[in-house]
Amino acid sequence: MSDYYARQRILPEIGPEGQQRLAAARVLVVGCGALGTVQAELLTRAGVGHLIVVDRDRVDFTNLQRQLLYDPSDAQERRLKAVAAAARLRQINPGITIEPRVVSVGPRTIRGLLRGCDLVMDGTDNVETRYVLNDACVQAGLPWVYGGAVGTQGLAMAVVPGKGPCLRCAFPDPPEPGTLATCDTAGVLASAPVMVASLQVAMAIRLLVGQDEHAGRLTSLDPWAGRFHTITVPRDPACPCCGARTFPFLRASGVATATTLCGEEAVQVTPAQPITLGLPDLAARLEGAGSVDLGDDHVVFATAEHELLIFADGTVLVNGTRDLDLARSLVARFVGS
Ligand SMILES: [Zn+2]
Repeated sequence: MSDYYARQRILPEIGPEGQQRLAAARVLVVGCGALGTVQAELLTRAGVGHLIVVDRDRVDFTNLQRQLLYDPSDAQERRLKAVAAAARLRQINPGITIEPRVVSVGPRTIRGLLRGCDLVMDGTDNVETRYVLNDACVQAGLPWVYGGAVGTQGLAMAVVPGKGPCLRCAFPDPPEPGTLATCDTAGVLASAPVMVASLQVAMAIRLLVGQDEHAGRLTSLDPWAGRFHTITVPRDPACPCCGARTFPFLRASGVATATTLCGEEAVQVTPAQPITLGLPDLAARLEGAGSVDLGDDHVVFATAEHELLIFADGTVLVNGTRDLDLARSLVARFVGS
């Protein structure tokens, strides 16, 4: 085992001192999907001393095409992603500490998860959680590495509070609900999230060994088109987050509310702000992800396990569950947050 990090230690960019810094680091990986599984495996093999992997979902067969830590038995047994990922990571490197957390990441839980960490990896699958991460990390002065991938494309940027821009300097507000493609509606080529996650880990290792001059470089890539492009995002002095230090996404009221319906296996999810959904466009985007029925004032969308009744004002009735976080996450995945 003493040779585990030999090829990394002889890299001039890392060296014995960098390797020691990695061993002393505590990193939070938020989400164990396509991005998070690759991040976690690379950070595990790199020798990050303490890795916390967070996810509330279970493995299913549609994950296996791109979520590299899982195999069919995990999907067959419907194992919790955080637990299955941790078991595999411990096999890969028994010399470090892996801590699985089965938690829904949101305004109520994020600050507890960040405590004691040196860096946060974005492995989430929805925009809402990224704005929560940005608010929480800027408030705490903690670096985090943004990443996202859908279709054949992806984006990555390291956010270092006080040294460079934050997510809201680059993208001031989340996109309008229902306007953004998600992996569930648009599909995803595995190469895109694997490249994004790999780039995020390179950014993370740079930061952990003490090199932060790449903060604020936003890279977009498309492995299908063979395109890789980096721009420098300026810090916005008027940014509501890192400038004015307001953190609206940490208030539970800033996100969609979810309530169970009395006596029914159903949850109603109400958007945070009044919105109007383009139902025909939404219905067209959901084709292929499940069965879709477009009505005058609603869309009925059904997967194998759940049915979403989606209204033009953004209210969604999620049938087949009483779990508020699951309902909110289904709405974020299929309707957008
Ligand atoms: Zn900012």
